[in-house]
Amino acid sequence: MRTPVSDYLDEVLHACDADDGEVADYIPELAKADPDRFGIAVATVDGEVYSAGAVDVEFSIQSISKPFTYALAIADQGLEGVLEHIDVEPSGDAFNEISLEPSTGRPRNPMINAGAIAAHAMVAGDDADTRTSRIIELYSRLAGRELSVDEAVFDSELGSADRNMAIAYMLRTVDRLDDDPPDVVRGYTRQCSVSVTAVDLARMAAVLAANGVAPDGTKILDTAVTRQVLSVMASCGMYDAAGDWLTTVGIPAKSGVAGGLIGVLPGQVGIAVFSPRLDRHGNSARGVRVFERLSRDMGMHMMEGTEAGRSAVRAASEHDDELRVYEVAGDLRFVEAERVLRELTGEPEGDRLVVIDLHRVHRINDVARRMLLEGIRRLHLDGHPVRLVDPEDVLPDPHAGEGYVPEVFDDAKAAIKG
Ligand code: GLU
Repeated sequence: MRTPVSDYLDEVLHACDADDGEVADYIPELAKADPDRFGIAVATVDGEVYSAGAVDVEFSIQSISKPFTYALAIADQGLEGVLEHIDVEPSGDAFNEISLEPSTGRPRNPMINAGAIAAHAMVAGDDADTRTSRIIELYSRLAGRELSVDEAVFDSELGSADRNMAIAYMLRTVDRLDDDPPDVVRGYTRQCSVSVTAVDLARMAAVLAANGVAPDGTKILDTAVTRQVLSVMASCGMYDAAGDWLTTVGIPAKSGVAGGLIGVLPGQVGIAVFSPRLDRHGNSARGVRVFERLSRDMGMHMMEGTEAGRSAVRAASEHDDELRVYEVAGDLRFVEAERVLRELTGEPEGDRLVVIDLHRVHRINDVARRMLLEGIRRLHLDGHPVRLVDPEDVLPDPHAGEGYVPEVFDDAKAAIKG
């Protein structure tokens, strides 16, 4: 069978193909880009990649590097340390605005150049080269292949980096930059000149979607780091169109002036589009259309909320005086665990055996685990012996408090027999 997902992406590619917008030309090398290139790549958190169009063409990552460098700065310095130097408020300004928060002297967020240059300088490294190598190493691990700098783009951009240089000197005057401004701008420019394809970017985005876990199970970034990065992408990722983007598309995103655009749907997929013509905000014009379409078609707006599993729990053996079996199914988070507890509240006090069958549950998050254990503790206090069916060990060490640990069985029959 040919997967319908790629066919769907082909269809989106054609539907969003128009030639409005202009290729960025303030960096001479970018002006040479073929404006008609257009590709979409979608990577799942477990490493499957679907694509359509020009997804193997290399282009410079530009500002899409910013969230990843910010992640590394936090991993190196801790969140508090980074927040002291870079705020997380949307600025509404253009990406290269020469401005700082008047009261604190901090750049407003790490997605505009002032904040991104400061974040670059906060990455650990004995010298500017080590810092830059560590940054490119992280991008490579996230993309799953070795990435390198496009030297032509780098030279071209460094030759026209007066504005970024001004920003770096400004940061230095307010003690937000310890290092030599030209060194930092050089490193920052190298980070922006890393060559990627849409597939690379989709893979990098998918690691953010997976709480920092690569498809092979390696934990590349801490969960707290990815949460911070995605929050900032959601509020500040789309230049001065961030509010419009959040309401219409509702996917944490970051765009770059070379025409790349990534979106991250937490827990699900990383998406990347490449198309060099930019709209008036500096975002890929076709890229924005693709995301609007995907968000609408696939219900990806994060404020839409995922539906809670309706039949998370069901009481079987209804009329049995001796025992009651509660069958639970699906992943358990707060909402599903609440349903389970609600069902358990129907259990009158007494010594009737309660079997909680978890064999159709695959994952229980921390809050759901605590809720379930508390439910078990209360059943126990009400006089019930409780047995668990948990062949996959989804609820390991089920210490329910007050020294009570329910017996665990591999199947319901065994649990009922005892
Ligand atoms: N390297 C570019 C700059 O600093 C990145 C701009 C962008 O992609 O928004 O001007």
